[in-house]
Amino acid sequence: MTPDPRIQIPSVDRLMRMPGPAALLAEHGHTLVVSQARVLLDELRQAAQAGTLQADALDAQALHNALAAHVARRLAPNMRRVLNLTGTVIHTNLGRALIADAALQHLLAMMAGPNNLEYDLASGGRGDRDAIVEELLCTLTGAQAATVVNNNAAAVLLTIAALARGREVIVSRGELVEIGGAFRMPDVMSSAGAKLVEVGTTNRTHAHDYERAIGKDTALLMKVHTSNYAVQGFTSSVDESVLAGIAHARALPLATDLGAGSLVDLAAYGLPREPTPQEKLAAGCDVVTFSGDKLLGGPQAGLIVGNRAQIDLIRKFPMKRALRMSKLPLAVLEATLRLYLRPERLTRDLPVLRLLTRPQEAILAMAHDLQAAVAQAVAPRFAVAVAQMQGQIGSGSLPVERLPSAGLKISPVQKKGAGRALDELATALRSLPLPVIGRIGDDCLWLDLRCLEDAAPFAAQLSALHQALA
Ligand SMILES: *Cc1c(COP(=O)(O)O)cnc(C)c1O
Repeated sequence: MTPDPRIQIPSVDRLMRMPGPAALLAEHGHTLVVSQARVLLDELRQAAQAGTLQADALDAQALHNALAAHVARRLAPNMRRVLNLTGTVIHTNLGRALIADAALQHLLAMMAGPNNLEYDLASGGRGDRDAIVEELLCTLTGAQAATVVNNNAAAVLLTIAALARGREVIVSRGELVEIGGAFRMPDVMSSAGAKLVEVGTTNRTHAHDYERAIGKDTALLMKVHTSNYAVQGFTSSVDESVLAGIAHARALPLATDLGAGSLVDLAAYGLPREPTPQEKLAAGCDVVTFSGDKLLGGPQAGLIVGNRAQIDLIRKFPMKRALRMSKLPLAVLEATLRLYLRPERLTRDLPVLRLLTRPQEAILAMAHDLQAAVAQAVAPRFAVAVAQMQGQIGSGSLPVERLPSAGLKISPVQKKGAGRALDELATALRSLPLPVIGRIGDDCLWLDLRCLEDAAPFAAQLSALHQALA
C-alpha cells in the first residue's frame, strides 16, 4: 500500500519556512500569504481524500507555484478591462461611455494630491463644487444655471423632490418609462414624495389633456424622453414649446428628462438625431436633466441645467447633499465638458463620438486584416467570414436605429451541437487575459469591430484562444 499522501502535506508553518513561500511572505506580508496557504493546503487535503492528488503536487517548486498563483488570484481585481466587440458602443453592462484621454489625465493629476474641490482660490474661502462645471455647462447649453449629481436617475429624483414634493406632477401616459429595471417613472415620483398625474393615452396625448389636469395642487409639468423605445403609427405628443406656454401661463415650471442628451447635433455627423439640452431650454423648459455617461461621453453623472430660480431650489434641497458628485467623476466631467469647447476636434478627442463616427470601410478593412489569423485560431471547429453588421449606439439611445458596421462572423463547421460549440467559443473568448465579449445570434458568434480601434491586443491573444479551444 502507498502511504496516505495526506501525511506528506506540510503544515502551514513548514510551508512558510520553505524558500519560495518565505519569499512570498517577505513580499506580501503574513496576513494574505498565510490565508492563501490555508486555502491551498485545504485543497490538497481534499484532493488526497478524493484520491486525485498528483504525487508531484507536493514538490517544493509545485507548492511554491501553487501558492504564488493563489496569492496572485486573490490580489486580482474583480473589475477588469474587456474588449467590447458586441457592436453596442455605449454598452450599459460594459461601463457605458469610454472616458477621453484628456479626462483620464486630468483625473490622475487631480487625484495625486489635494485640490480645490470646495475651495475658492481667489478669496481663500469656502467654494462650491458645482462651480467647477457650472459655467461650462451654461456656456454649452445656454442655461442660466446648472448643478450636478451622481447620475441622471438622481437628477430626476432630486428635481421632482425639490420642485414638487407633496404636490402633483403631470406626465403623459406615453412617457411613463422604465429604464433598466429599477428606474420607473411612477416609482420615482412616489420616491420623491410627489403625486403622479397621468394624462393622455399610450399613443396620443394632446395639449388639452395637460390643460385639464392642471389644478391647485399642480407643481410641475414634466416631459420624459422615450429613449429606449419607440411608439409608432397613430401617435401624437405635445412638444416642449407648446407645453412651456401652458405651464408658464399658470406660473408652473416645465421639466424635461432627456436621458442621453447629446450636447452636439448628431445629425451633423451623419448619425440619427437625438434631442439636445440646448434646444429643450430654447423651447422654454425650465429644467433639463441628462446623463453624463451616455452620449455626452463622460463619467457617470446627472446633469441638471435650467433657470436660476429652479436650479437654486434644486441645489439647496437637502437631498442634494446625499446625491452630490464625488471629486473623481467631477474631475472627469470637467475635462470632458472642456472638450466640447473645440467641437471641430470632438470626433478625435471624444471616444464616444470617435467610435460612433468610425467609417464602416475602416472597420471592414480591419476585419479583412484579422480574418486569416482568427480563422487559424478557431480552426478546425469554426469557420470565419468577414461580414457587414448592424451595431447600436446603446444605453437606450435611439433604440430602433442601427449603425452600419462590420466584423467577423464565426460559425461552427458542424451543424450538430452548434449551440454548445458557440457557447464554448464565447466562454473561451471571455476567459482570455483580456476578455473578449461578442454576440451570439443566428447560429453564429459575431465580433463587431467598431469599438476595436487597435487590433493588436486582440490579435496578441489568438494563440491563447487556439489553445483554449484545442
Ligand atoms: C438613462 C436614463 C435615465 C437614467 O440615467 P442614469 O444616468 O443611468 O441614472 C433617466 N431617464 C432617461 C429617459 C434615461 O434614458
